[in-house]
Order: sequence, then structure tokens, then C-alpha cells
Amino acid sequence: MKFSGFRVVKEALTGHKGWGALWRNPEPKPDYDIVIIGGGGHGLATAFYLAKTFGKARVAVLEKGWLGSGNIGRNTTIIRSNYLLPGNEPFYEFSMKLWENLEQETNFNSMVSQRGIINLFHTDGQRDAFRRRGNAMMLAGADARLLDQSELRKMAPFLNFDNARFPIKGGLMQSRAGTARHDGVVWGYARGADMRGVDIIQNCEVTGFRIENGAVKGVETSRGYIGAGKVGVAVAGNSSRVMAKAGMRLPMESHVLQAFVSEGLKPTIPGVITFGAGHFYVSQSDKGGLVFGGDIDGYNSYAQRGNLPVVEDVLEGGMALMPMIGRGRLLRSWGGVMDMSMDGSPIIDRTDIEGLYFNGGWCYGGFKAAPASGYAFAHLLATDRPHETASAYRFDRFARGHIIDEKGVGAQPNLH
Ligand SMILES: Cc1cc2nc3c(=O)[nH]c(=O)nc-3n(C[C@H](O)[C@H](O)[C@H](O)COP(=O)(O)OP(=O)(O)OC[C@H]3O[C@@H](n4cnc5c(N)ncnc54)[C@H](O)[C@@H]3O)c2cc1C
Repeated sequence: MKFSGFRVVKEALTGHKGWGALWRNPEPKPDYDIVIIGGGGHGLATAFYLAKTFGKARVAVLEKGWLGSGNIGRNTTIIRSNYLLPGNEPFYEFSMKLWENLEQETNFNSMVSQRGIINLFHTDGQRDAFRRRGNAMMLAGADARLLDQSELRKMAPFLNFDNARFPIKGGLMQSRAGTARHDGVVWGYARGADMRGVDIIQNCEVTGFRIENGAVKGVETSRGYIGAGKVGVAVAGNSSRVMAKAGMRLPMESHVLQAFVSEGLKPTIPGVITFGAGHFYVSQSDKGGLVFGGDIDGYNSYAQRGNLPVVEDVLEGGMALMPMIGRGRLLRSWGGVMDMSMDGSPIIDRTDIEGLYFNGGWCYGGFKAAPASGYAFAHLLATDRPHETASAYRFDRFARGHIIDEKGVGAQPNLH
């Protein structure tokens, strides 16, 4: 079934009886060439590109719950490529370019909206650091523009420019950044993979690996044993738990991150705005809700829910940045489990176990990465070579001391 304007009109005139399910619900086969564990954004994108770009059809995605039940359905939907370090920026810019063509590639409306992101700066030193980051972005082919205060006042007059502690002096803008509908991304990739023969198997939890003579042969699941030529793990916040079943300990911790949405308001926020003096960021959904978030909860957890101290902390950040938010009502909040790596950057790599590959450590920035991560992981699984934009995301960077410490806060997952 192909989606088009013509199809929408036809269905409207014939009682919407022709729409089918977006993907099949197949029984697991005894074995596959490639098994992907985790039906989040990264697992589904990997399956999509394996089938579409690398011609692999004997592929299964095993998801313990339902598609979208993890972080991919819980994030604040921001997409951007405003990184500094050479190990990161080309990868995230590759992802941005894939976002720009995603809806055509998947034939699905994922509501990719390039409404821009502005990172605010509050001191001269911070402006210099942002200028440097903007230059690094442009060298990698991304767009970046430094806004002074007067320009910013016209774009976002509601900001607290004259805050005594954190005066806003300007911002670094990436116009091509923005948001995408997270569910639409899941459904688009799932449908695209399914159409090309990938089996998407929900309610199928991987409970163990069958490993013989140092090579993976398949996975034990809640729906029985499934053989596999190769196994790719993309389970985000559950990375350490799943990889422990293969005897591996990861340089990673799991923490909760919360997000919030207000009641629907008139259009106010131009794109995405991030506070530079505290952890708070905000955008506005198409329904009018202010979508915002801040810091992770301060302790390790696998629970998909957050705690009140962080609610208070995030709202304090909002009040410092844009006091008008105090007049709005909070509609709901929720939490997801973050796979926080020790340097804040991800891993897309083979493991020492033959046939077992790992994708994780996305921290709270993996939504924007899903297209490039899926592409790079598919490239690695299909060719056994890292994709050029992901070649720095290796396990051994911690042993070699070549960490990719974008935020410069060292091995502190709770600070990234
Ligand atoms: C509140 C919040 C806000 C965020 N905001 C942003 C943002 O604005 N921009 C951005 O870029 N990123 C953001 N992120 C981060 C982003 O959502 C994640 O980094 C990314 O979604 C993680 O990759 P994923 O989609 O594959 O993860 P998930 O959707 O979590 O997928 C992993 C899947 O693996 C499954 N799984 C786990 N164990 C097993 C098992 N044993 N067997 C089978 N399946 C298993 C899980 O059920 C899950 O569905 C945010 C995250 C949260 C929680």
C-alpha cells in the first residue's frame, strides 16, 4: 500500500475501508541471517536500511514489548546536528541529511519539521565556545548562525533577557534542526522494513544468547530459540542488562530522563530553545503543548518513571528562562531509561564474540541519531566494516584513551 494525496482523497470518498495494517504480525521463523534485538528507533532503522540499502531480507527484529514502548516513543523529538567534535559532527550531520529525505524514503509522514534550534549563551566565554562550535559545524557541512541579542529579542521576545543572574546575550542557531513526530518515525521504519520482508516480532523478549566456541549461534527468547547468523543488539536503556547475558560488562550506566508537556497554548515558541545556564529546553507541539525537559534523575534506574525533585528542578529552569511558563498548566510528565556512556558518546561496534554486534550509549540524544545509527549499524552488520561517519564509535576508545567527550565532563554519566 503506497501513501499519497490521491490515496487519501480516494479513501475519504469510499469510507476509509482500504487502509490496511502497517506491518504484518508474523510468527518467528527457526532462524534468520540477522536478528536485531530491540524494536526502538535504532533497531527498526537498522532493519530498514539492511533491507533497503544492503539487500538483506532474512532479517528479524525482536521486541520485548510493543513498537514504540521504549525511548523512541518517549522523547522530546528534537533533531539537530550541532556538535563540536570531529568524531561526532559528521555522523550527526549525516543523520540530519537522512532526516531531510526520510519521508520520501519511507513513504510515510513522520512530520519532520525543520523549525530550527537556538542554544542560548549568557556570558562572553560561552559565546566564544558557541562560535567555535558553529565553525566546526560549518566545516562538516552543517549550517550555523550566531544571533546577537537584538535579533533574538525579535524572534523570542518572551525570554527573560535581563535576568540578573543569567542575562541572555544571544544564541547559536541551526535553522535546519527541528522536530519530528517520534511515533511516525517508528511506524515509518517498521512499515518500510516489513514491506521489504523483515519480520517484526513483538512481545518477544530475548532472555539469553547461545554462544559456541566464541561465536553467537542464536538467541533464547520468551517465544523459543531463534537461530541467527549475526545478532545486532540495539536495546538502548537495557543495554547493560542484555549484554550481561552474553557475559559483557559495558562502560555505561542506565538513568531515568523525564519529559513534560503543558496544556495547549497559542503558537509561541519559534522552534527549539535551550537554556545555556541550566538544563532546560523547550519546543511547542503542533497541538500547542509546550514540550520540555531538563536533567536526568540523579541515580541509576531501569524504571520508566521519574521523581518529583527533578520535576521541580526542570520547572525552576523554565521559570528562570521564560517566566510566562508559570502561567501555564502542566498536563503530564513521563520517563525513559537512558543508556549513559562514560564519555557521553555512543558505540556502534563488533564485540569480541563473533557474530555479535552492539549499538548503544545514546544517552539522551539518540532520537536525532536514529537514521544515521540505523544506516551505520546496517553497514557494519552487512559488510563487517564501520561506516565512515561512525568509525570513532568503537569500544576500544576507552582503553586507548581516545574518548569523545563532547560536553567535557569526563567519565560522569550523570553529568552528560
Ligand atoms: C524523556 C526523553 C527525552 C528525550 N529527548 C530526546 C530529544 O529531544 N532528542 C534526541 O535526539 N533524543 C532524545 N531522547 C533520547 C532518545 O529517545 C533515545 O536515545 C533513543 O530513542 C534510544 O534508542 P531507541 O529508539 O532504539 O531506544 P528504545 O525505543 O528504548 O528501543 C529499545 C527497545 O529495546 C527493547 N528491549 C529491551 N530489552 C529487550 C530484550 N531483552 N529483548 C527484546 N527487546 C528488548 C525495549 O523494549 C525497547 O523497545 C530522549 C529520551 C527521553 C526518555
